[in-house]
Amino acid sequence: MGGQPLYLEPRSGPRLRSLLDSAELLHTLTDALGSPLNVVVPEQIAENLERFRAVYGRHHLAGQVFFAHKANRSSALLRRLAATDAGVDVASLGELRHALGAGFPPDRIMATGPKSPEFLWLAARVSVTVGVDSPGELEQLAALVRKHGLPRVRVLLRLSGFEAPGVRVLSRRSRFGSPAGELEPLLDAVERHRDVLDLTGLAYHLDTMGLAEKATALEGCLRALERCRSRGFTPRAVDVGGGFGVDYLADGGQWERYTSELTAAVLGTRPPLTWGGHGYGLRNEAGTVRGTLGLYPAHRPVAGERYLDALLAHPAAALGGRPLAELLLEHLYDLHIEPGRALLDQCGLTLARVLEVRPGEPGGELLVRLAAKADDVALEEHGVLMDPVLLPRDPAGDGTGPVAVHLFGSRCLETDLITRRTVFLPRRPEPGDLMAFVNTAGYCMDFHATRAQLQPVARKVAAWQEGGAWRWCLDDQYWPTASMGGAK
Ligand SMILES: *Cc1c(COP(=O)(O)O)cnc(C)c1O
Repeated sequence: MGGQPLYLEPRSGPRLRSLLDSAELLHTLTDALGSPLNVVVPEQIAENLERFRAVYGRHHLAGQVFFAHKANRSSALLRRLAATDAGVDVASLGELRHALGAGFPPDRIMATGPKSPEFLWLAARVSVTVGVDSPGELEQLAALVRKHGLPRVRVLLRLSGFEAPGVRVLSRRSRFGSPAGELEPLLDAVERHRDVLDLTGLAYHLDTMGLAEKATALEGCLRALERCRSRGFTPRAVDVGGGFGVDYLADGGQWERYTSELTAAVLGTRPPLTWGGHGYGLRNEAGTVRGTLGLYPAHRPVAGERYLDALLAHPAAALGGRPLAELLLEHLYDLHIEPGRALLDQCGLTLARVLEVRPGEPGGELLVRLAAKADDVALEEHGVLMDPVLLPRDPAGDGTGPVAVHLFGSRCLETDLITRRTVFLPRRPEPGDLMAFVNTAGYCMDFHATRAQLQPVARKVAAWQEGGAWRWCLDDQYWPTASMGGAK
């Protein structure tokens, strides 16, 4: 098998663990509804929200948690969140309609991202806050409000390209947001359109894990807010976007071992760990490893609400070295956040049926084909390496010891690999077994799903616990009355 098995055991909380322990239910569901199948657990998203709220409480901060809808299309998760006091960040006309239909009042909705005229119109019509991305969009919105006689719109200006005074310029380029250095002309425009636009705050969203980079942006926003005030505006909020991340793996030691063995495999000092010698960004140049590992840091203890906590405790370099939370509090600014992935942590899993198990090269890995496409379990797409949990059809079967396998999808393409890496399983899978990919709700479940080759898109079910047993319904049949013990 080429050495010791290198496991990457997923971190699973009590709800997902309890679901995995209900293998018979998961087999029955997949038999009935087809493979792949997504299962979401709406109660978890409410719990995750509370964790973020607790960080607000510790820092005595007010403001809203806006769930970044784009990370999952589930109606059940959205409706469960509508039953809390959270907000939702919508980035398309469809998401806005979904949020309104799930019961979010407009004052808990924020419209961001690239916007069509229809999206802008509906957002303005129902009075949701609009995160404005550019001077052009500001003009477009103002013209639309005038033309259609709509109510004055609350806007947040999204900025990008912040500079740390005297230090390096933030190098990260973004398609979104107006350059922070061009705030003045932007404020001139807001001034001109004051009758139709109400500037309520500033925003940024950086697709990075770097804490220092985000702290610089937050500081930049605080300075820009002062500038707004000195020009007579009364903004109250700063929106720091999303990107709080998820800790995917149960064991940091496994991650360390895996990445050093992957490096050794790229150098050729151990047998390959991937299909076709793929190096996840690393390559061997005359015996030296080059490149950068293009993987999500799957073991990430400071993720989610802990990352927010760390950001708030971060000293503001140019503002006296005081913690950022203190500066927000001092100015009584609301802190808005837009977590997608982090709010979906532990909120669901993806099931795929094993269709075929055959030997590969002599002494090599087994080739395992699943009733799912790579798009249905987009862990690879996001660089998240995590083992599936094998749920045997026959739990009493005479399982052999650990095996190394390659996981293929059911599309007629050489590249339809569920994972490009060799996966180690504690026992040999058999046709009819299920593989459960844990913690896929953030981006991996439905963001990339297609109907290529007329293969079905995974159905989604919502599951919740009642009196010690799991109950379930189709995702679009779910309303919070089900899992919140309300009227049936
Ligand atoms: C995608 C996105 C988010 C969510 O990012 P996560 O990494 O999932 O937390 C938040 N805000 C904006 C503007 C986004 O585009």
